Amino acid sequence: MSTTLPAAGKPAAGTETAGTEAAEAEAAEAAAGAAAAGGARVEFRGLRRAFGTTVALDGLDLTVEPGELLALLGPSGCGKTTALRVLAGFEQPDSGEVLVDGADITRVPANRRDAGMVFQSYSLFPNLNARENVAFGLRVRKVPAARRRERAAELLDLVGLPEHGDRYPHQMSGGQQQRVALARALALRPRVLLLDEPLSALDAKVRAGLREEIRRLQLSLGITTVFVTHDQEEALSMADRVAVLNAGKLEQCAAPAELYERPATPFVAEFVGTMNRIPGRLTGSGDVEVAGVRLPVDGPAPVPGTSGVRVLVRPENLTVAADPEGGATVVSASFFGAVTRLHLDLADGTRVKADLPSREAAGLEPGARARVRPVERPVLVEAGTA
Ligand code: ATP
Repeated sequence: MSTTLPAAGKPAAGTETAGTEAAEAEAAEAAAGAAAAGGARVEFRGLRRAFGTTVALDGLDLTVEPGELLALLGPSGCGKTTALRVLAGFEQPDSGEVLVDGADITRVPANRRDAGMVFQSYSLFPNLNARENVAFGLRVRKVPAARRRERAAELLDLVGLPEHGDRYPHQMSGGQQQRVALARALALRPRVLLLDEPLSALDAKVRAGLREEIRRLQLSLGITTVFVTHDQEEALSMADRVAVLNAGKLEQCAAPAELYERPATPFVAEFVGTMNRIPGRLTGSGDVEVAGVRLPVDGPAPVPGTSGVRVLVRPENLTVAADPEGGATVVSASFFGAVTRLHLDLADGTRVKADLPSREAAGLEPGARARVRPVERPVLVEAGTA
């Protein structure tokens, strides 16, 4: 589920408490003029949230380090958006706590949290131009008009739209609207930036460009950022760490390369990247024999005393050579430019995927016989032979 609330981070009009305005205007003005505040540490502790019989968060424990970009990744319905909404204050957990720099903010209303948010849908105010959208939170905070204008110009510059201040949302592309939404979320220098699938409505090329821009901005501002996505490529390419959720629980939180190379659970192995499962046999000396090659097992063997296992091998960790005497048969070959993906049937009937540099794929047309070998490196194994 994706939220469609229109406000970005700071309070919507009418939500301010009378009597505190002067002090807040001063604080906001100070914030608007100050150097970036630096990122906060965010902690989710034992968060649980159910909607009727659906458990969206089932005891989520997770820490986001100061200045880190953390991606929440997982299949549809795993609780990503709920976790983000709990952090934003739009959703109350049934139990558990949210801490920002050690302070418990679980019961703090959304408009008192120091967070800026960008949503999947562009969610700009249609009747305000880009400059007014960016300055909206500053206006609510009673920052003087001249300073608002100056700050909006700075922010539009920051997101690469210095000439777009007078444009209304319908006069901008989707990518431009998301840049304005990002500028708006950053206007009050929040200590936490929350991004809920902000790129998913954009076409592939714009998405790739904006990915890099968001990352560049996030690094230069040093702002702690939580990014919800179901796109693993997006998560792996942008994040310092990726938290994979499954059914409201954390499966693994690790740097992208570690998550990919050393998935902690079969779920992560399956969800992140592509994984082959090839029947193998434990040798009893800490190795496994697969496709005629002995490889060291990474981590403990799953079922002591069982020799038949499945060996987890990424497509790029299989070598394939055309060989009329080989035990494998090429089923299909898909050309992706630099890489060609082959589907092959091994001698025992196991269907595997192998990614080869395209220049090595000559002679590996469908029907060709081939020799398939895993690259010599430690592998994960699972119980079962199927
Ligand atoms: P997606 O990638 O599809 O957006 P998600 O991982 O963000 O999914 P959530 O939106 O957090 O998932 O939802 C988690 C579960 O809680 C889902 O089963 C969803 O249907 C349910 N849920 C979320 N919000 C509500 C609500 N307000 N009322 C009822 N059920 C809800």
